[in-house]
Amino acid sequence: MPYRYRCYDCRAEQPEAGDRASAEVFRDRHRRWVHGGLAPDDEEIERVPAGERGHDERYVSSSAALLLLGVLAVVSLAARVLGH
Ligand SMILES: [Zn+2]
Repeated sequence: MPYRYRCYDCRAEQPEAGDRASAEVFRDRHRRWVHGGLAPDDEEIERVPAGERGHDERYVSSSAALLLLGVLAVVSLAARVLGH
């Protein structure tokens, strides 16, 4: 089961889920770099459900953008056809 570190104070999360040890390394680095070595109030190492490997939001948003472009193309074509 992969793990991922999350800091709710910064709304930051480990981009790629890994094993528990890598999440702890990420947490320690985040604490040191962002919080000056202090532990933020609201953070956790969460278990990532099987099947969800890492962060696929970029992929999702780019396919959503492509879909939007496709819809816009259809709409502008329809407007052109209907306009004449
Ligand atoms: Zn933080």
